[in-house]
Amino acid sequence: ESEERLQKAIANAGVASRRHAEDLIATGHVTVNGTVVTAMGVKVTAKDEVQVDGVPLSKPIARHYLFYKPRGVITAVTDDKKRKVVTDFFTDVPERLYPVGRLDYDTSGLLLMTNDGEFANQLMHPRFKIEKHYVAKVQGIPTRLGLAPLRKGLVVEGKKLAPARYNIISTDKAKRTAIVELTIHQGVNHQVKNMFKTLGFPVMKLSRPQYGPLTLDGLQPGEYRPLKPREVDALR
Ligand code: URA
Repeated sequence: ESEERLQKAIANAGVASRRHAEDLIATGHVTVNGTVVTAMGVKVTAKDEVQVDGVPLSKPIARHYLFYKPRGVITAVTDDKKRKVVTDFFTDVPERLYPVGRLDYDTSGLLLMTNDGEFANQLMHPRFKIEKHYVAKVQGIPTRLGLAPLRKGLVVEGKKLAPARYNIISTDKAKRTAIVELTIHQGVNHQVKNMFKTLGFPVMKLSRPQYGPLTLDGLQPGEYRPLKPREVDALR
């Protein structure tokens, strides 16, 4: 169960801004499990009953967004080097959002964003086997046979990966590059790049046009839209 500071719990429930929540605490309006708390920095979990003026905090409504992550953006909520992060695109959204999994800085594509940590953890759990569909531009001219280890489950850095499906879309013999589609349901760090690198075809460009049943239809890089209830059901 994740802990958060009392003023943050109040702010996240939409009752007040963080600042106002601190005032409410300091002036004795807030109880935790029936006891008035005026000290700052008290930690609470979802199991604690927090009330403001006798009214329990309601669970924030779960919000999920489908985001077209552009290249050149970090999949994080803050970056110490001040580079652009995915949450920078959601300034119009009041909820505190987190990415579901990650795409590399130089990878574009479909990334889910949610304020519901439980939902995010569910989707990322290997048991769920959500298929992620990638399109890679690689250096070199792969053949179907040369890529066959992908289908069996490649060993990368001593770890056996789950089998992947692939399809060579096109090859450019003059430039010695190829476009390859790849479908995996795992999400190990840099997985696609490492898979191709292991087979001798370094990835030059990577995008993810599909995540489970969801696609980027109708979105431009940097745009997002809320998930429809039936899309949420389809993921679960
Ligand atoms: N695999 C990678 O190597 N990079 C990504 O961004 C996603 C999957």
